[in-house]
Amino acid sequence: MSEHFLPKAIPFSEPTVGEAEAEAMRQAIMLKSLGGDGKLCRETEGLLREMFNVKHVLLTTSCSHALELAMMALEIGEGDEVILPSFTFTSTANVIIRQGAKPVFVEIDGDTLNLDPNQLEAAITPRTRCIIPVHYAGQGCDMDAITEIARRHNLMVVEDAAQGIGAYWNGVPLGSIGDIGCYSFHATKNITCGEGGALLTNNTRLAHKAEIIREKGTNRSAFLRGEVDKYTWVELGSSFVLTDMLAAFLKVQLERTEELNNKRRAIWNTYYEGTADLEQAGLLKRPYFHPKASNNAHIFAMLINNGRRDEVMVAMKKRGVSCTFHYVPLHNSPFMTAYYGGNVPHLPITDRVSTTLLRLPLFAHLSQEECQYILAQLHEVMSIEYAGAKAK
Ligand SMILES: *Cc1c(COP(=O)(O)O)cnc(C)c1O
Repeated sequence: MSEHFLPKAIPFSEPTVGEAEAEAMRQAIMLKSLGGDGKLCRETEGLLREMFNVKHVLLTTSCSHALELAMMALEIGEGDEVILPSFTFTSTANVIIRQGAKPVFVEIDGDTLNLDPNQLEAAITPRTRCIIPVHYAGQGCDMDAITEIARRHNLMVVEDAAQGIGAYWNGVPLGSIGDIGCYSFHATKNITCGEGGALLTNNTRLAHKAEIIREKGTNRSAFLRGEVDKYTWVELGSSFVLTDMLAAFLKVQLERTEELNNKRRAIWNTYYEGTADLEQAGLLKRPYFHPKASNNAHIFAMLINNGRRDEVMVAMKKRGVSCTFHYVPLHNSPFMTAYYGGNVPHLPITDRVSTTLLRLPLFAHLSQEECQYILAQLHEVMSIEYAGAKAK
């Protein structure tokens, strides 16, 4: 074992939360502000509007619900097709199928791991209504190309910006570029309230429709603003409102976006520099960022060469370091295989990435000492001598 010995196991991910978040929750409780879409939700939505520079933000119980709300607001339904990558979380596809529409999986770019815009047009048919680009690891998809293709074919764009907090494409916040953007504040994301999400849009008609769906199909939101004198059932809806307690928690976290993302970036950079020699030796491929995409350091994902991913992951675990992989591609999952009746599409880049990708632990309070330990273990596992932190 290496001399960089740490007795305690290093988890893969942990939320960075404490007294300030607890105090905000306590205040919400003492104010008896517990329901959804209350005063504290309004305040947090106001902060999000400023951060994203968008007209409308609706807090939701999760990003899955924000995506579902988006599909409902856009009236995606039977006979419609929606384009998305297969290399994503199940939520991106579930919301399409729940509406009775058909998901159409498009290949990713082998460098950015984002939807490849060059593959997009071939997937468009007269039934296509919408594209859902997923900003993997907080790296913006090529929104210039995607927006141009969507305009030309009259398609809606819903950004899955679940991982994108504090990140930009060409200087514009992720989630604010398409017709709708969806965020996650799940415990594993850079900014969290445990479970939570948001829907962003500059389209006032869509925002009003979404706020009715979010409030059980009623116009309660307009009532709370004093726009109508009673509220009633006006559309088919559901319930996606976030409690004020979590909105208060989230506001504290959102105010820490720069601080927490900067800490993550320091760790990300340590990993990036500390794995250069392993890439040089042909053992792995480090993450790549498009010059127009900023990095919020949500994920540090390497592609391990020579079929060694699982072996490396197990060996790291034995040394107390929890590394993980993802995504098991959606297009050939048990659910989609049954959906297609066995006739699954061929997406070789997605398949290759998902079997070679390895993520190192990454959370804001991970120490540089722990990073050095992790890098030392990785070098030992890969049988390369570790030179340690470079003198700067
Ligand atoms: C986390 C995540 C989701 C789901 O977010 P929840 O808030 O947990 O529902 C959706 N899409 C992507 C790409 C994610 O990373």
